[in-house]
Amino acid sequence: MSKHYDYIISGAGCAGMSLLMRMMREPFFSSKKILIIDGSDKTVNDRTWCFWEKEAGLFESIVHHRWERVNFFSELFSATLTISPYQYKMIRAIDLYSLVREESAKHTNIEWRYEKVSEIDGTGSKAGLVLATETITADWIFNSILFEDDPVTPPGGKGYNLLQHFKGWMIETNEDHFDPSVATYMDFRVNQDEGTTFMYMLPVSKRKALIEYTLFTEKLLSPDKYETALKEYIRSYLQISEYKIEHEESGVIPMTNRHFPQQRGRVVYMGIAGGQVKGSSGYAFQFIQKRTAAICKELCAGGNRFNRWSLQQRKFQLYDSVLLNVLHYQKMKGDKIFSKIFQKNPTERVLRFLDNETNLWEDLQIMQTMPATIFLPAALKEIFT
Ligand SMILES: Cc1cc2nc3c(=O)[nH]c(=O)nc-3n(C[C@H](O)[C@H](O)[C@H](O)COP(=O)(O)OP(=O)(O)OC[C@H]3O[C@@H](n4cnc5c(N)ncnc54)[C@H](O)[C@@H]3O)c2cc1C
Repeated sequence: MSKHYDYIISGAGCAGMSLLMRMMREPFFSSKKILIIDGSDKTVNDRTWCFWEKEAGLFESIVHHRWERVNFFSELFSATLTISPYQYKMIRAIDLYSLVREESAKHTNIEWRYEKVSEIDGTGSKAGLVLATETITADWIFNSILFEDDPVTPPGGKGYNLLQHFKGWMIETNEDHFDPSVATYMDFRVNQDEGTTFMYMLPVSKRKALIEYTLFTEKLLSPDKYETALKEYIRSYLQISEYKIEHEESGVIPMTNRHFPQQRGRVVYMGIAGGQVKGSSGYAFQFIQKRTAAICKELCAGGNRFNRWSLQQRKFQLYDSVLLNVLHYQKMKGDKIFSKIFQKNPTERVLRFLDNETNLWEDLQIMQTMPATIFLPAALKEIFT
């Protein structure tokens, strides 16, 4: 007989671990048999998450660094922006993975397995998860594994398919070079020939900063181009000649308006696999937090529908499609769009807009800072497509 659980969390990355963390905080789950499974043991610091937040979040205890001011640089507009009431926060993946694993060791109802998952199926009366030598079942599987051949393209449907791709170095210098109280959120002064291109610069001390070269384009660059751009930025903009690379990370994130599945029978999708990357910005961390909180709420309420789209979510899907349309057809360059948005609006409103949290009146205020001749036809096309 196959092993059966109340819940299987398939994929123990950001979404899987966030969901488990929330379940551990909620007494409702203490009597549930939970399996969390991943092909990797997650002992490597494979990424750094940055996001803005007003209050203490689920992972407050492991915030590695935080900033209350951020720089924005472009040819059109440059400023140091105070982001109050938000803080821009950084979490190192390894700290999140370790915290969740340590916490879970106190819960006897939680089991870990490190194994490759080859298939999941939610169509029967139980959800099934296929491993190399056995199939295990659960009442519900919460999945964040992308099974498709192309890991950044959801199957089927029409839509725009930009990629956010980046390479980052945490560098350390022998002398003081950085102001750890100000992060560079976007620096568009770099070459824009490939498409929307910018640098992040996130100093965690006077001698240490994460510098990330980021592009929103349809194709990836050859590996050497990311390194050349990073070296050039460190040399000419930061004016640093000597440094050592302490940590390196890279990634490719889908920026698309194509619909990822939310739920197929007894399998519930979350994370990148559940479409939690914001199509027009590539940010996912906070959307994953919202999704995993909503899943826990639905379970605690005894519900079984995890695929409800609110009107607010649909509204922002439309806005994301409009921006992707403008970028895809190169009607306006990304550096100009972001410059205008940040120049003409209070930063707090922009951050709430990027979090899908503004109301219609605030949306209109942001939209009127964009050229109507470009955005209106794009909006009409997306509404009627
Ligand atoms: C380097 C990097 C930096 C990022 N920085 C930010 C940021 O600053 N802010 C932000 O908002 N977003 C950021 N993102 C985007 C997003 O937040 C992350 O990609 C996030 O980790 C997505 O969470 P996830 O759970 O969907 O996927 P993952 O965290 O990738 O988790 C998926 C898990 O599935 C496992 N897995 C895959 N296939 C199998 C299989 N067949 N069997 C078993 N296990 C499997 C993997 O080992 C992995 O642990 C970043 C992404 C990357 C790559």
